[in-house]
Amino acid sequence: MKTLGHWIGNKPVESTSGAFGPVYDPATGAQPTQVSLASVEEVDAAVAAAKAAYPEWSQSSLAKRTAFLFKYRELLDARRDEIAELITAEHGKVHSDALGEVARGMEILELACGIPEKLKGELSTQVSTRVDVASIRQAVGVVAGITPFNFPAMVPMWMFPLAIACGNTFVLKPSEKDPSAAYRLAELAAEAGLPEGVLNVVNGDKVAVDRLLAHPDVAAVSFVGSTPIARYIQAEATAQGKRVQALGGAKNHMMVLPDADLDHAADNAINAAYGSAGERCMAVSVVVAVGGIGDELVAKIAERAGALRIGPGDDPASEMGPLITREHRDKVASYVSGAAAQGAEVVVDGTGFSVEGHENGFFLGVSLLDKVRPGMAAYDDEIFGPVLCVVRAETYDEGLALINSSKWGNGTAVFTRDGGAARRFQLEVEAGMVGVNVPIPVPVGYHSFGGWKQSLFGDLHIYGNDGVQFYTRGKVVTTRWPDPADSAGINLGFPSN
Ligand code: NAD
Repeated sequence: MKTLGHWIGNKPVESTSGAFGPVYDPATGAQPTQVSLASVEEVDAAVAAAKAAYPEWSQSSLAKRTAFLFKYRELLDARRDEIAELITAEHGKVHSDALGEVARGMEILELACGIPEKLKGELSTQVSTRVDVASIRQAVGVVAGITPFNFPAMVPMWMFPLAIACGNTFVLKPSEKDPSAAYRLAELAAEAGLPEGVLNVVNGDKVAVDRLLAHPDVAAVSFVGSTPIARYIQAEATAQGKRVQALGGAKNHMMVLPDADLDHAADNAINAAYGSAGERCMAVSVVVAVGGIGDELVAKIAERAGALRIGPGDDPASEMGPLITREHRDKVASYVSGAAAQGAEVVVDGTGFSVEGHENGFFLGVSLLDKVRPGMAAYDDEIFGPVLCVVRAETYDEGLALINSSKWGNGTAVFTRDGGAARRFQLEVEAGMVGVNVPIPVPVGYHSFGGWKQSLFGDLHIYGNDGVQFYTRGKVVTTRWPDPADSAGINLGFPSN
């Protein structure tokens, strides 16, 4: 069995904590790898490496930083398949989906390559006689990133390329369920010439996270994961005086209006609900069927759901892979098993599903639940699996009120041909990311990603301009070069003009 340790100061570091976590191949149920779970001292070593690298890196020229970023981008571009294979091996998602994840992560790296444009300051000349004022942005220091299992390469890449482009140094704590892709990204950064200590990976669990939150030398924390942990991270890290962006869970609604193209809507519902086995924070987990279209839409979704090919992620024929762990698979299945008793109609039942030759894999078929209502566990909880709920609403207003009463507000979408209705929806819906006939509106790298309500704790969204703001702090410099002819004299008044 392989043991994965830490990556500190551009070198592999073996853990001495004696604690390990299992890393499974979800398609087989085997455990090819164990990941070291860092002790407090090991986290401290990673932070110390980042702190030592900070003075030089934060003062390095933009030309030097971008030279690295462009080189790194080329290196990763040539290794997309390799990263995608690591993702599939530990997460389980199909290879094409893993390649998509790498591509979406690289978008942020590409944004980071253009960092000089983003870090241009502002200058006002002659605000007073011979006085100029410049606003500049500078790095914040050592940044910690804590990431979830569901995008083991993309979410780390939402963070560290932009953070280091801004002059920070970084300690990444990837999900202990699938840590190898992030580790490889750090190795490749070293290969592309990143100076030692600028990007470090410390593997671990709550012990490592809690140490990062408490460490006096960590200035900022970027977190992506579930809502309870996001809330905890924000509370703990802000109490320690750190800046925090903590992105949480979701329950994303897709409203389908009566005038929508129902085939198009059904295709999109399938893709967005069952892609990556529903383990996406932007997955559509609720379809809100408005007006009298419910029966027809449900029939169209059910027909498509029955045809999906589920199998190992490395089989090109598979459209959907297994879930992350056996426990998670069983928990997801329990929502389907319990749905009928709570009054939902189980239209497609994915429980009890297995793949021939992979009977120990963490597979689950897709499920479709109709006539779901708030108050049912399948509606109220984030299931994070291949379970799509359909809620019927009489009117647009009823559907909108349902969506807006959710405690989450990550992504949402409306499917319609009516521009006026779509425009109302954009303005009236309470969510951070809205799609119009686009089911998973994950913003491109040069816009920012983030939800409302319990989907994000903090102010700034992640990547894009918000990301640059988060990873920098403002400074305003007021300058006067006195003219030799001036006689300043004494003046105790408050400086004005
Ligand atoms: P998780 O919250 O269990 O874990 C995320 C990270 O937090 C991991 O690195 C983990 O080691 C750490 N962690 C877990 N428990 C902890 C604890 N008690 N104390 C300190 N640290 C702890 O999330 P997950 O299961 O890995 O990922 C799935 C969740 O992430 C879903 O809720 C999903 O919606 C969410 N997610 C959100 C976004 C977004 O952008 N909003 C993106 C991806 C995933």
